[in-house]
Amino acid sequence: MPRNESDYDVIVAGGGAGGVGAAIGAAKAGARVALVEKYGFLGGAATNAQVLAYCGFFHHGGNEAVQSVAGAGEEVRDELRRLGLDCKPYHSPTTGNWIILLDPERLKVALDRVLAAHGVDVFLHSRVAAASRTADAIESVTVAGMDGRFRLIGESFVDGSGDANLALVAGQPMRLGDGEGRIQAFTMPIRVGGVTAEGRIDRQRIIAAVDAFNERSPEKINRTDGGIYTRVEGSGDFWWLIIDREMPDLSSRSFTRAEQSAREMAVTMVEVLRDKVEGFERAYLAQTGPQIGVRETRHPAARYEITHDDVLQGRLREDGVARASWPIELHTEAGKPAYEFIGGPGYYHVPLDALHAKGIGNLWYAGRVIGADPRAYGSTRVMGTAFASGEAAGVAAALTAGAGQAPDAAAVRAQLLAQGALI
Ligand SMILES: Cc1cc2nc3c(=O)[nH]c(=O)nc-3n(C[C@H](O)[C@H](O)[C@H](O)COP(=O)(O)OP(=O)(O)OC[C@H]3O[C@@H](n4cnc5c(N)ncnc54)[C@H](O)[C@@H]3O)c2cc1C
Repeated sequence: MPRNESDYDVIVAGGGAGGVGAAIGAAKAGARVALVEKYGFLGGAATNAQVLAYCGFFHHGGNEAVQSVAGAGEEVRDELRRLGLDCKPYHSPTTGNWIILLDPERLKVALDRVLAAHGVDVFLHSRVAAASRTADAIESVTVAGMDGRFRLIGESFVDGSGDANLALVAGQPMRLGDGEGRIQAFTMPIRVGGVTAEGRIDRQRIIAAVDAFNERSPEKINRTDGGIYTRVEGSGDFWWLIIDREMPDLSSRSFTRAEQSAREMAVTMVEVLRDKVEGFERAYLAQTGPQIGVRETRHPAARYEITHDDVLQGRLREDGVARASWPIELHTEAGKPAYEFIGGPGYYHVPLDALHAKGIGNLWYAGRVIGADPRAYGSTRVMGTAFASGEAAGVAAALTAGAGQAPDAAAVRAQLLAQGALI
């Protein structure tokens, strides 16, 4: 395999759970790896949109947590533990799900450390802006960085950008949302400081505050159940997912309007909390975002799309390269999440072809970019699963770079098992 002119064996776009998993997977398989991330920190939605829990590391239900994701994801958990975060599975009595609660600041540092330990070349404040390709392969990406534009040449590539931005600039065909123009709702996460209320916050009072908000504001809140909230350990801040909105399309104009209107809503919401809820008299808006949390954007063409039925049956396959165990969680109607549970052993396999771009031999997908139909996507997208699909994509990309052609699933599985992944 000619590698003389390549800067890297594997180039990863995006540093969320999918991209980080891919970079670790590829590096452990022996590849020279670069990761390009548009923010000044890694973590994806966990650090850029206050998504403060890892879902998908464990099976649903049961009295004890049963792990479904290890490998790269487990390395990140180990580093978080070294930074003092206990990372224990937390069981939600209402949903039966097991999650890992996160601290975004420690997560940023943990991810820096893990990638440094694997010798990954990380480019922060750098965005993959263009790609050059032949009929069936990507040759290089153009990165818009702090020092202008530069080109990175690679043998193979992983799109871990969440929004399929690498596949987009490579000209890959896309499906938007469910294919009929419906995209899952976005959320503006907010953090409220100055809350003196001790102990449990009364949900009825929060619901009454939302009603009061809806009387006062021209933009309405659909989540009339009071949304999802918790107190942040340490600061006691009130962390709240309440502003769920529909996203009409994926234009920069719509994203701008979404950010601006959600911020206005957050300001009014905190005024209402101050007026209406005991213990919130001195509340202030401590943080929005940094950006809206976007559940869904584009789905680039993959060689296989995981189906609704694959999830419901808990389908296992010989070409499976990752486990997925989070139930289907759909936010098609803003403010009204709907769940469906996984059958069979409580997890299903992500097949290698769901990670492989249709028609582009050296492009692999990680995290929420992987091939899945609109309902299956409600399960595949969570961050624990993104580490697992990412690690598999990274291994597949590394083996592609080594052999000059895509590997078969058996080779990817063997390498993943050697790396400690669960399949
Ligand atoms: C409101 C909300 C709540 C959620 N709740 C949970 C939850 O509790 N637990 C859970 O596990 N999941 C949850 N999810 C889903 C989960 O956050 C995402 O599906 C997950 O983050 C997917 O990981 P990823 O790495 O594929 O993508 P992302 O986390 O989106 O990461 C993609 C990364 O790529 C970068 N990037 C994008 N374009 C470029 C480019 N051109 N060049 C360079 N970098 C680029 C981005 O900056 C980002 O860092 C939630 C999502 C939302 C919106």
